Amino acid sequence: MRGLCEHKSARLKVDLSAIRKNYARLSRYAVGADCAAVVKADAYGLGMDKIATALAGQVKSFFVAQPEEGCLLRKILPNKRIFVLHGFLPDGPGLMADYNLIPVLNSLEQVRGWRAFCSRKERDYPAALQFDTGMSRFGLAEEDIQNEALKGFKPILVMSHLACADHLDHPANEEQRKRFIKMSAAFPHVPRSLAASSGIFLGTDYHFDLVRPGVALYGLPPNEMDTSLHPVLELEAQILQLRKISKGAGVGYGLSYHATHSMRLATVGIGYADGVFRAFSEGGGHLWYKGIRLPIIGRVSMDSLTVDVTAVPEEQLAEGSWLSIIGPEQDIATVAAQSGTIGYEILTSLGHRFARFYHDDDDDI
Ligand SMILES: *Cc1c(COP(=O)(O)O)cnc(C)c1O
Repeated sequence: MRGLCEHKSARLKVDLSAIRKNYARLSRYAVGADCAAVVKADAYGLGMDKIATALAGQVKSFFVAQPEEGCLLRKILPNKRIFVLHGFLPDGPGLMADYNLIPVLNSLEQVRGWRAFCSRKERDYPAALQFDTGMSRFGLAEEDIQNEALKGFKPILVMSHLACADHLDHPANEEQRKRFIKMSAAFPHVPRSLAASSGIFLGTDYHFDLVRPGVALYGLPPNEMDTSLHPVLELEAQILQLRKISKGAGVGYGLSYHATHSMRLATVGIGYADGVFRAFSEGGGHLWYKGIRLPIIGRVSMDSLTVDVTAVPEEQLAEGSWLSIIGPEQDIATVAAQSGTIGYEILTSLGHRFARFYHDDDDDI
């Protein structure tokens, strides 16, 4: 493989073409609506610069959470629409205008601040407006809609966010959708957006004018639907040391494991500082070598973990052999379940010590 760094014991491979294919799939699914891309939190830990660049040919609108992320993205994408989900803090409207960012205004306070800023500048800078339709996180409450502060205000987008869209038949989905239609009626002809990844798979009633997938772009199925998304990443780590232990030997911090029989162990160069949760070992986690399951033995440490490699013929493994953590044999959802969390948290916890490799089919042509 091109350009492998020999000096890092773990590597993350990200397939940019798979992200583009997932984008194409989601936009086909939401046909009729514009499909944005959510790249907050460094594109869910995978690298915002690389991913935004890879999507720039297809995507018109991007979403980030924080103003700072918006500024970084603006330098990568000079001409795209960039929405900032958190809006801005009281001293922040100037930054929005300077970087040509579109704040998502979440409170009457933000609306007032933005409108005052626009009138000082004598210019109607674009803004989006969020409604709280039931999640009680961001957005205007239903009773805010009649407020004086909104009189004559024309956002370029109204939006809301679903709390339970990962469950297809959760009654809150329909309740939020109805409330969204009702609240957005106060802003006729303004484009509307309700669905993130999971909302897209609730069907066309949820698509409105713009959908905002994040996690599905990165290959995680957002709910129980089979969405046939392409896997995007592989995470592997190298064996640093091999050893044999006899029955009764303790393994790792706290000696939480004692060998019930003699076995061969491999100490692998990845740990919880790299995003392999300590809970992963307690949840029965394992690594893989060519289709063979390698149970994690004892506790995950900060920089390493230990697996039982007794099932692999001895001559096949050496110091430096690569084992797979996320890949064809084990997806992110499995790792998440065994770590007691969700795929989103696994992705955004991926550490920064890996060698990172970005593959793009288009580069091969
Ligand atoms: C994070 C986020 C998204 C993207 O969510 P996914 O579940 O990753 O698709 C969309 N909209 C809002 C408001 C968000 O906070």
